[in-house]
Formats: sequence, structure tokens, C-alpha cells
Amino acid sequence: MLRAEIVSVGTELLLGQIVDTNAAYLARCLSEAGVIVHRRATVGDNMERLQAALRTALEAADVVFTIGGLGPTMDDITRDGLAAVMGDPLQLDEGIAERLRQFFALRGAPMVESNLRQAMAPVRGRVIDNPNGTAPGLLFESGKHIGIALPGPPNEFIPMVDNHVMPYLRAKTGNIGTIRSVVLRVAGMGESLVEERVKDLMFDSNPTVAPYAKVGEVHLRVTARADTAEEADALIAARATLVRERLGTAIYAENDVPIEAAVVALLANTGETVSTAESCTGGLVAQRITDVSGSSAIFPGGVVAYSNEAKTTLVDVPADLIARVGAVSPEVAEKLATGVQARFGSTYGIGVTGIAGPTGGSEEKPVGLVYIAVAYPGGCEVEKANYIGSRSIVRTRASQTALNMLRLRILARARVSKI
Ligand code: AMP
Ligand code: MG
Repeated sequence: MLRAEIVSVGTELLLGQIVDTNAAYLARCLSEAGVIVHRRATVGDNMERLQAALRTALEAADVVFTIGGLGPTMDDITRDGLAAVMGDPLQLDEGIAERLRQFFALRGAPMVESNLRQAMAPVRGRVIDNPNGTAPGLLFESGKHIGIALPGPPNEFIPMVDNHVMPYLRAKTGNIGTIRSVVLRVAGMGESLVEERVKDLMFDSNPTVAPYAKVGEVHLRVTARADTAEEADALIAARATLVRERLGTAIYAENDVPIEAAVVALLANTGETVSTAESCTGGLVAQRITDVSGSSAIFPGGVVAYSNEAKTTLVDVPADLIARVGAVSPEVAEKLATGVQARFGSTYGIGVTGIAGPTGGSEEKPVGLVYIAVAYPGGCEVEKANYIGSRSIVRTRASQTALNMLRLRILARARVSKI
């Protein structure tokens, strides 16, 4: 089993100015190929700390990757740093130098001396072709250690990983198995409760089950290691069945399917429709529904009923009701839902009213108080929520609850109609 470490190089990563998407991408590719990524590190553009990180990495890993720092300027030090640590000096590669000259000539841009830094290649190692940029990757092999340096721009990095690095590692290791994952997406249940239900499964090492809290939902990642993808998938499927028995309808979809897509698919299946009347979410529920391709079949429309007057004129919420109980109330949420349902003649109506904050709260009605209603044929369900978080988080959570209430209602009605 190969063990790998990834060292990302760049002060902008340490400052949090860019996110290390390259390391995440590489880590996914490596684990799929059965290579264990046992550590990741990030260092700034500093030779001393880079070399220290590389030496530490080589103590435990068979393959060490560097990302970034292969540019032509003074702060691009990875090439020299990795060469020093791998004990393989660099020399000018005339082939690369010539390609660089052509690259600049083709663009009519002047080539300066420093550009030749990118033509430096290891004496014993080799270069990795980069068709999308000027900096080739470098591959060092020294004893049992492999060092691979790749450039930072993702449009250069990703094709090099796909087309060169992964085939190289696969050829090197033969079949070393694979690690695969499925994410089960859970809505309407907090992380601790989810964990409570699957706790015993979390102690197993293959497959593993691990919960991740997201805004308004929890993701359960089921990961298996096996010789082949088929075997890994079979292990995952058996474990996922067990998890599904524990969590039931709280699991709404797998992998990259958001809850709005699950809702649109359900409605397309039952041949039903939904419309929305939103106050504090400002159309977020409608936006999420219409983000899904094919939503036109199930979503006739929605309104943003922000002012009291809009609630009355657009979705028939009685003005005296608002005057009596206030716009943020279960009664108004219900009228928004039933009003929009009637206006559009849809099967379901969603109503949302609340205080997204950060201002506008009171002792009686604090920031984060949201009433969410789902009207259905023969009734209307209203839920009261007290969300904690920023304006944007309150709105996201409210839209999530609305979509999940709708989803559970569709499922319940479909079950009843089957009997
Ligand atoms: P460099 O190869 O260090 O000169 O980086 C060139 C550009 O690639 C940077 O300005 C970043 O925008 C991008 N970049 C560098 N490292 C990463 C990384 N680890 N993940 C994503 N983008 C990166
Ligand atoms: Mg850099």
C-alpha cells in the first residue's frame, strides 16, 4: 500500500485568500486509486519551511506531492526545494527551453531570463507535460521515494493529475485496490440524533460510517476499501441498507442530489405541483426549486410577499388577521400557504414568514423565529422554528425546513393513496 503526503505551497493559501481545491481533488483521486493520503500540509513561499515540511513528509510517505510554486518568479521555490530534498539536482532542459521560447513567440510576448527557471528539470528524474501552461511538472524518483511537483493553476493541475500522475501511480503499484464512498443525505434530524442511531456502525473500520453536519442537514459518508470497485460498492450497499433501516425517510437522497432535486423528482413522480408564498426567505424556496432542471412541470410559480400589503393583495392573507396576530405568526404562515395554493391551483402551497435578522427581533419574537407552513389537499401543517445564525443561515435553514416538510408530506400522501 502506497502512502502519500500532499504539501501545498503558497502564502495565499495560508492567508486564506484561496481555498486548496487542488489538494482536495488530488486526495479524492488518490484514495479512489487505493493510495493512502496520511497527511496534508500547507506552507508559505519560504524555502526553509518548505524543505522542513518535505523532509518530514518523506519520513513517513512513499510519495510526496507538492502543489504550486512552479512559476517563473522569485517566490516560486518548489522546484529547487524538492530537488534539494530528493537529492537530485536540476539542469536546464533544452527541449523545455525551446518550447517556452515558442510559447512566448506564438503570443508575441517577450521572454525574460527568469522564464528559463521553468525549463529546469531533474537530472535523474523527468518532467510531466503541461499542455495548458508554461510550468511542466517534475517527477523525482530516489530509492523508494517518489516526489511529484505540480503547478498551482487548477486548469493546469487537474489534467496533469488525470492524464499523467494517476496512470503513472497505477502502473507503479499494479492493482492496489480502491476506496469508494457514498454519501447518504439526511434532513430534519440533528447530527447527534443521527449519530445516536448509527453509533455502533461508526466503530467498524471497513466500511466506515461518518456523519458530517451541514447547514440544515447531515451527511453520512459510507466508505469501503476493497480490491475492486464492485466489491467496494457491494460493501457500501449492504451498509447503506442497514443505515436506511435506522433512519428511514430522514434520508432523502445520495451523493450530490440536493433536497430540492429530491422534491422535484417526487412531485414529477406523483404528478403533483407546488407553489410558494415567501416573506423572510425572499424567494429562496422558489429559487431552489427552479434550480432543478424539469421543475417547470411541478412549479407553476411563487410570490415574494414581503410587505403586509403584498401578503394581502397577492395571496389573500386577511389584513385584519395580520393586524391582530402580526405578520410573523403561525396563522399568517398558514394563510400564505393556503392562499398561494388556491391562487395557483397547485396541489401544495408553501408559506414562510419570520425574522431573518440581524435586526427586527423582539423579546416575544426573536431573530431566527420562522413559521413555515405546507398546505396540502385537506389540510395545512405549520412548524415553528427558532434558528440560530446569520441572516443568510436563517434563510437557508428556513428554506431547507420548508422543502423537507413538503417532501415528507408528499411521501405520507403517496403512502396513504397506495392503500
Ligand atoms: P503557483 O503555481 O503557486 O504560482 O500558483 C498559481 C495560481 O494557482 C495561484 O495564484 C492560485 O490561484 C492557484 N493555486 C495555487 N495553489 C493552489 C491550490 N492548492 N489549490 C487551488 N488553486 C491553487
Ligand atoms: Mg504560488
